Order: sequence, then C-alpha cells, then structure tokens
Amino acid sequence: MKIIENKKQCTGCGLCVYICEKNAIKMLATEGGFLYPQVDETKCVSCGKCKNLCPANKERKSVTPLECYALADNRTEQRCKSASGGASALLFEEVINGGGAICGCRLDENLRAVHDTAENIESIDLFRDSKYVQSDMSSAWDKIGEHITAGKKLLVSGTPCQIAAVKSRFGKNGNLTTVDFVCSGVPDPQIFEIYKADIEKESGKKIKEFYFRDKTNGWKKSNIRVVFADGTEQIITRKDSYYFRLFGGNLYFRECCYKCQFKNFNTFADITVGDYWGIEKLHPELDDDRGCSLVIVNTEKGKALADSIKSRCTVTPTPLDFAIETHPKLEKSINRAKYRSLFFHIYKGDEKSLKKAMQICTRGSKLGKIRRVLYQKALKLTHKI
Ligand SMILES: Cc1cc2nc3c(=O)[nH]c(=O)nc-3n(C[C@H](O)[C@H](O)[C@H](O)COP(=O)(O)OP(=O)(O)OC[C@H]3O[C@@H](n4cnc5c(N)ncnc54)[C@H](O)[C@@H]3O)c2cc1C
Repeated sequence: MKIIENKKQCTGCGLCVYICEKNAIKMLATEGGFLYPQVDETKCVSCGKCKNLCPANKERKSVTPLECYALADNRTEQRCKSASGGASALLFEEVINGGGAICGCRLDENLRAVHDTAENIESIDLFRDSKYVQSDMSSAWDKIGEHITAGKKLLVSGTPCQIAAVKSRFGKNGNLTTVDFVCSGVPDPQIFEIYKADIEKESGKKIKEFYFRDKTNGWKKSNIRVVFADGTEQIITRKDSYYFRLFGGNLYFRECCYKCQFKNFNTFADITVGDYWGIEKLHPELDDDRGCSLVIVNTEKGKALADSIKSRCTVTPTPLDFAIETHPKLEKSINRAKYRSLFFHIYKGDEKSLKKAMQICTRGSKLGKIRRVLYQKALKLTHKI
C-alpha cells in the first residue's frame, strides 16, 4: 500500500496513523528527525483510507480572502509573550471563554514541540510563541477526535499542511474552526534536540524553558531566550545562534516545504496569520516594536470568530496586495538550499556530524567552498545523493 506517490510530498502530519483501523502504520524518523509513515504489509488490508484522506493527495482550491488587516492585542504584556501581535492567542481566548477547546503547538516537559489541546485560559501562554521546529501531531489526533465527538467548539492552529490534514478528516464538522500561518517551513526536530543539548553542555545547566521569539530587544530583533533550572537566563541573538543560521540558509527544512502545496492561497484554514513585517512602511503609528499580526480572513466562519475579538485589539485594515508584497512566502515556497542533500548526507543525527555538515554546507572560507563542491560532485558521481 503506497499512501503517497511521491514521498517528498509527505508532510508528516500522522493522519494516516490515526485513521488506520488495523494499526498498520507507524511514524518513523527516516531523514534526520523528520517522521514518515511506514506501512506494515502484514497488517495492511489495502482499504485505501489513508491514501484517500492524506492531505498531500487532496485536490486544492484557492481561496479568495474576505479581509486583510493588521492586529495588535491592546494588552502589551500579553502581546510581548506572543510571536507577533497576539492574534492566535486572542482567538484561543475567545473560543475557551465560549466553552470550547483549542489545539495548538506547545513545548512539552522535554521541550519537544507537540500539538496538544486545552480548555482553560491558564494554558494559553503555553501555545504562544513560534516554535521554529516541526511539531509532532501524533498524540493530538485522539484528543481532537474526542472534542469533535463531544460536540465542542474547537479551534485548531497549525501550519497550513497540518490544517489541511485536520480539515481532511474533520472538515465537515461545523464546530471546527482553523487558523494557519504564513509558513517558511518547518525545521528538523532532531537538530533542535542537538541544539538544546549543546546549550546545556556549554552552560553546564539544564534548560527549563525555551523561547524562540523573546522580545526583550524588540519584535524585529527578537532573540532566543532560555531559562535554566536554577532560574538564571540566557539570551542568544539570532546572529550568534547556529540554529537560526541554518534557518536562514534554508538547509534543514522538511523536504515538502521546498515545494509546499499550500502556497498561493491554497489554504484550508478559516484564518491565516503572520508577522506583519513591513507594517512600519504603511502604518508607522502601529509599529511600537512589540509585535503586530497580519490577519487574513479566508471564510465567513473565520470572519465570525475574528470579528468577536476586535473589541480587545487594535485592528487596521490594509490592502491584501501589500501583505503579499511583504510576505513572498504567502505565494512561494522557500528555495531549496543547493547543498541540502549533501547536508543530510553528512549529518547522521549526532552533534559531531551536524557540526561537520554545517562546516561543509554553510557559507564560509574558500577552503570550505572547495570542499563542498568536491564533496557534492563525488557523491553525485557515486549516486549517493
Ligand atoms: C515554523 C514557523 C515558520 C513561520 N514562518 C513565518 C514567515 O515566514 N512569515 C510570517 O509572517 N510568519 C511566519 N510564522 C508565523 C509567525 O511567526 C507567528 O506564529 C504568527 O504571526 C502568529 O503570531 P501570534 O502573535 O498570533 O501567535 P502567538 O499568540 O504567539 O501563538 C503562536 C501560534 O502559533 C502556533 N505554533 C507555534 N509554533 C508552531 C509550530 N511549530 N507548528 C505549528 N503551529 C505552531 C501555536 O499553536 C499558536 O497558535 C511562522 C511560524 C512558525 C511556527
């Protein structure tokens, strides 16, 4: 049973595992820490459910957005905890206050990015902040199913491909509302594990909390902030973080992100949010460097929910064309780094090989360039990449 014709299009959502009544599918890390489904042929009865529901196999239709605006939570303290203007957290609050449940990405007790559900306001802070790593949805599927079966209002937030998966299974349910975001792509979770371990090794302390977008130095210059078990903190600027240098080099994103099928408004979400980069050019008065969200309302259902939070935030309508101009990722996938295959060939899942892969595949000395060109040629000749 082939769930998907082209493995490179698999988004790793894990819907196939949830849907399989024979327990014939497991998710296994087969490229770095990226999970891909493995079918146990001895259990599979070729019913085709996984193939039919797989979001990568679904037909797309482009949406025509209804509204586009800049949004900032009026409570600066709350907004500073969010990645941009706090749009997602406000939507979460609204649904919980109305007796519903939410599902989004948080860091678990081992600081792994996972999707989880919640029903109480106190939990919302866990979901704030952009976790720049692929979130594991495995344990969220059952919980999403339970909320839907219980007839509860449910707001699910995730990457465009995760939302496509949720809609593929539960899209007909009237209680479900979804929000995705302008997405660059999702980094390898295993590299995030190595990065955290590296910080712990260097500091000699255990990390208790990890924030990707700390706004101490402002929204535009947001940094990594880690809180250690002894209560001390460390700020790591993006420039000083090899994790973010890899991000900038487009090296460690999931393969499907380089040819994302959900660009160009091929979204299944009711609302799309993002960082409103460039807002200072259009509305300098809105730019206090504490964060501003771009909100694109795609459906009437999304509009009803988005309208209900407007009294608690500052909303300024903006032209969609401007948002597209300042967010090329709304339309196009990120470029696949020239040396990405080489990077994942050298990197074997441990710190030593990661550092070697970075040394060879990232811009640097002339010698490094010669090495990577020769390496790439040799591997191509031997058909290893
Ligand atoms: C990997 C990644 C890449 C992004 N790339 C861009 C970009 O190129 N351009 C742009 O404008 N915006 C991008 N964003 C979105 C942006 O960073 C903010 O998440 C968005 O503006 C929402 O901000 P907020 O203040 O409304 O969210 P907050 O109130 O901070 O809430 C964060 C929301 O994001 C969700 N979330 C966080 N991490 C993940 C994750 N790993 N997987 C799935 N859902 C997650 C949470 O569930 C929550 O709903 C990206 C986000 C992520 C996670």
